[in-house]
Amino acid sequence: MKNRLYTPGPTAVPPEVLRALGGEALHHRTDEFRALSEEVLDGLRYVFRTQREVLVLTSSGTGALEAAVAGLFRRGEKVAVVAAGKFGVRWGEIARAYALDTAVFDVEWGNAADPDAFGAWLEKQGEVKGVLLTHCETSTGTLHDVRRLAEEARKIGALTIVDGITSVGVHELLPDRWGIDVVVGGSQKAFMSPPGLAFLTLSGSAWSAAERSDLPKYYFSLLKARESAKKGSTPFTPAVPLYAGLRAALARIRSEGLEAVIARHGKLARMVRAGVEAIGLELFSRVPADGLTAVRAPEGIDVGRLRTLLAERHGIRIAGGQERLKGKIFRIGHMGYYDEADIYAVLGALESMLHSLGHRFTAGAAVAAARKNEEE
Ligand SMILES: *Cc1c(COP(=O)(O)O)cnc(C)c1O
Repeated sequence: MKNRLYTPGPTAVPPEVLRALGGEALHHRTDEFRALSEEVLDGLRYVFRTQREVLVLTSSGTGALEAAVAGLFRRGEKVAVVAAGKFGVRWGEIARAYALDTAVFDVEWGNAADPDAFGAWLEKQGEVKGVLLTHCETSTGTLHDVRRLAEEARKIGALTIVDGITSVGVHELLPDRWGIDVVVGGSQKAFMSPPGLAFLTLSGSAWSAAERSDLPKYYFSLLKARESAKKGSTPFTPAVPLYAGLRAALARIRSEGLEAVIARHGKLARMVRAGVEAIGLELFSRVPADGLTAVRAPEGIDVGRLRTLLAERHGIRIAGGQERLKGKIFRIGHMGYYDEADIYAVLGALESMLHSLGHRFTAGAAVAAARKNEEE
């Protein structure tokens, strides 16, 4: 049986990336690695839609979130966090771990933050140095209007830092044009690579803040990373094989074209949404993102059982809900290396397993609804 990942990280990895991962051992203090690194950085600038430099850290995505917090602020400074799910909550946890004065704008899970309400709230918070946002809140499958939220943050002169880990390469996100100071990405999401690399872009103002920052840090030092990057290097041993895999993944994105990649994600998401709704299921998010779909578990269906059946019978891994959403939703990932046939496969299997669990609907309805959206 094939292993089929439909999780919102890690995601499916294309064959040429797998091949590149298995290449010759390469030392990182060599011209070969410098050339590889340059190609990777160039590809990342393309996907991040930025003229600025992109930093690569050897860590999971959270490492780059931590690097941004530890790297940009001074002791006791105030930051504001939009918390609309587990990843927004994580921003707050990281800020508090560095003893920053952390104000939290709570949003009901499944909703997107209202930029006007956020702006009005922000004005009352006193001197906020940074606003920590999540573009796609992966725990609820919700897309936030970071362009508008960043506009509100700029009004009070705060730096805007966006967790774009499940939106870069899925949704339009224009850091330079939208005045977003920092965007964070991760290799195991739309970059179609295994976990282990995290990415950051910083604006000029963010770099100035980095130079003033006095929070403790060692491994996750943005300044050290920038110094080394100038010489095509990294301060510590990078995950070299992942760079080689990422180069192949970036080449794939470039040959499809980022616009087309984003359009494909839109179409696959519409197919999934139409498919699950056609069999009587309800979307969890009021503003669904395109990289994954969060679905409310129907009455009487055990999410754990559904996930086990999909894995055992079809090798299909989907995600459950996290924390307060455990048992209440399931999440189907479709970011990165996915096409229409993958969507038919997961919807067909979902129909079959839901039917065997006793959920009643018109057989074939999910696939038929998806097909309608494929043709449109
Ligand atoms: C996956 C993800 C992360 C990073 O998680 P890691 O396990 O550290 O890679 C952060 N934010 C969002 C929104 C994510 O989806």
